[in-house]
Amino acid sequence: MSVAATTRLLPEVEAFLSQSPFPSFVGGKNFPASSGKTVATTDPGSGEKIAEIHDLSPAEIDRAVSMAEAAFPAWSSLSKADRSSILLRLADAVEKHKPIIAQIEALDAGKIEAQAQGDVQNFVDTLRYFVGLADKVELREKINAPGFEAWKYRQPWGACAFIFPWNFPFLLIGWGISPALAAGNTVIIKPAEDTSLSAIYLARLAKEAGVPDGVINVVTGRGATAGAALSNNREIKRMSFTGSPEVGQMVGEACGRNLVPVKLELGGKGAAVVFDDVDVAETAEKLVGAITFHSGQVCCDATRWLVHRDIYEEFTKQCVAKMEKIRVGHPLDPNSEMGPVVNPNQRSRVLGYLDKGKSEGAKCLCGGGAAEVEGYSGNYIQPALLSGSLDNVAAREEIFGPVAYIATFETEEEAIEMVNNTEYGLANSVWTKDEERANRVAEAMVAGNSWINAHNVFAQGVPYGGVNKSGVGGGVLSPETLMDYYRSTSVVRPLN
Ligand code: NAD
Repeated sequence: MSVAATTRLLPEVEAFLSQSPFPSFVGGKNFPASSGKTVATTDPGSGEKIAEIHDLSPAEIDRAVSMAEAAFPAWSSLSKADRSSILLRLADAVEKHKPIIAQIEALDAGKIEAQAQGDVQNFVDTLRYFVGLADKVELREKINAPGFEAWKYRQPWGACAFIFPWNFPFLLIGWGISPALAAGNTVIIKPAEDTSLSAIYLARLAKEAGVPDGVINVVTGRGATAGAALSNNREIKRMSFTGSPEVGQMVGEACGRNLVPVKLELGGKGAAVVFDDVDVAETAEKLVGAITFHSGQVCCDATRWLVHRDIYEEFTKQCVAKMEKIRVGHPLDPNSEMGPVVNPNQRSRVLGYLDKGKSEGAKCLCGGGAAEVEGYSGNYIQPALLSGSLDNVAAREEIFGPVAYIATFETEEEAIEMVNNTEYGLANSVWTKDEERANRVAEAMVAGNSWINAHNVFAQGVPYGGVNKSGVGGGVLSPETLMDYYRSTSVVRPLN
């Protein structure tokens, strides 16, 4: 790791990293890979190795699931009050350790440190939200059925599995496991191999906070082996996968074969529709902010900017000026506004899309190459703006980098058609001062989420999920998500 990054590390983070290689954490204990095999994890900002994590075999994954299932009867039979107080203690412990977890995350995922702190707080808020909601769930709910005494009885499922991507490692764990734990399930978390450190830290912290052994388990390793073994396991009671549509299909197939209920939260190719009555400078600022947030590695990002013809020239000019000023730098440098992408493969993928886009006729209005950051040889990219036909590969496929594609429209109908001309359906936004038009367009865009005069907005209680190639299974963050983690039994007694 470069000297500049090291000098900024908290002593607790240094102490944690010095424990590498990291075994998985299962049943309240370190759970090593018996093969001794490890996977290296690097600082995307410097390209240097920061730690190694154990690479579990499929048989070890199966053993971890059995241990999570063994912890289920005791955890699920706790009273709601006891379970809530344990989980609230965990939320408090995470909040207290926020600077440490955020720094681990910033270093492992290449995330600007202040943004990583926001992610950790989001985890805390999500856990508290679902604990509060679970407290109010009626486990026995009377059903009115003439001639019968009937009720619905809700109980947790058992061991629930979660596979997460590398872009929001800690925040997404919070979105995933909070409803499952609050309902009384045990969980097995498989983080991405590039970004497993914050999950391991969480599992150890959970033990310290008094979460019983086997309730929160973290299994590490490669997707094609450890991830595939988890999705093929027949003992898990539910699966939640967040990641690419390609891997999501494989996970969905495996769960389908085993008849395990599955939630898939997948990629996107979101649009922003900008009408001619907006404050051009302010809207340009916000959209540039959105596409450069975490270097564009955000599933719901606004990647297609559809701008009314009458303001296109001025809007484009403002966006280019703002993009060119973005300070690209190491995630632990407080002056950085945008960090690197997660690994060299991701950087090649983004630069490859820029080349393919240009060769299919797109014009590159700014950026479009690797960025140099003095003192670091990380995976940096200049934010880029392309323009041209929306048939272009860079306007159709998910790039997952700081690249936006800009095009014009004339009428509201045309804009809606352009937004909906995609296989994805995760999130879009509409920008206008006309409230009625905003509401109309927001409801006409085919996706799980529509935002008005904002992009990348999340609130506990508001469902977030995708349709079409962006996801199936109901999404996250809402009261319905909590109910997904109870299985229900209808109990009926004929009265005569
Ligand atoms: P990915 O699909 O490559 O990997 C996701 C996870 O799956 C990782 O933990 C990986 O180890 C595991 N995996 C890989 N191969 C596997 C296999 N054969 N079987 C089981 N598991 C396997 O995704 P990524 O590159 O880490 O993340 C980027 C993608 O995630 C983008 O498409 C992005 O849009 C999507 N994403 C979606 C959401 C959402 O909420 N909809 C949120 C974040 C990211």
